Amino acid sequence: MAEQHGTGQEAEGAERGVTGTRGEGSAELGEGVAEAWAELVDTARRTVADGLVVGTSGNVSVRVGDTVLVTPSGVPYDRLTPADVTGVDLTGRQVLGALVPTSELPLHLGVYRTTDARAVVHTHAVHATAVSTLVDELPAIHYMTAALGGPVRVARYATYGTPELAENTLRALDGRTGCLMRNHGTLTHGAGLAQAYDRTAQLEWMCRVWLTASSVPGMTPTLLSREQLAEAGERLRGYGQRE
Ligand code: 13P
Ligand code: ZN
Repeated sequence: MAEQHGTGQEAEGAERGVTGTRGEGSAELGEGVAEAWAELVDTARRTVADGLVVGTSGNVSVRVGDTVLVTPSGVPYDRLTPADVTGVDLTGRQVLGALVPTSELPLHLGVYRTTDARAVVHTHAVHATAVSTLVDELPAIHYMTAALGGPVRVARYATYGTPELAENTLRALDGRTGCLMRNHGTLTHGAGLAQAYDRTAQLEWMCRVWLTASSVPGMTPTLLSREQLAEAGERLRGYGQRE
């Protein structure tokens, strides 16, 4: 638990070659780390507040240079303070903090190694998790499918926290910025925490729409064609306000 790591942590960190542990705060941390940690904690709290996870389920990470800040395993997000900053390098060696990193570290690191992602969000969102038990791919019935790179695949099941789950999930992510994880939840990534979070929220919303439409007796939702998705994808590149 966060409060149990107080005195003695600096010595413990030094022994393990961990740098920039608690001490006097952000002065010891690399550039942008304190801000990125604050945004990561806000994002993790938002997954609970928005009902995308319950308790300490799910995990969030953000990349700052070659350091990946991650939520610690099994710590309630409302207890996380600036002093709890937890970071690893791209090989998984802990370089910041002393709390045990998320059990899904192989998954987060796999995403950073194989994509240009700067942030990763994993949740157990209700509708997405329900859909992950029903199909191999979320039927493309809404154009926001294109915002995730195309029809969203469901990764093969493996035990949480294993390299096998990371491997299965990376396969399902190929060419996509999000996927479902069978009998488990969601994984999205993005250029920053806001984008990764928004993709999770959109994915959960699309799963809810599909469950709603497909549960009307005697009716089957219409699918969008590959061309319709490509056209929406093209248009989404210019979506919103001009810079
Ligand atoms: P952690 O608390 O270790 O991040 O695990 C939660 C989870 O969702 C595992 O898949
Ligand atoms: Zn999980």
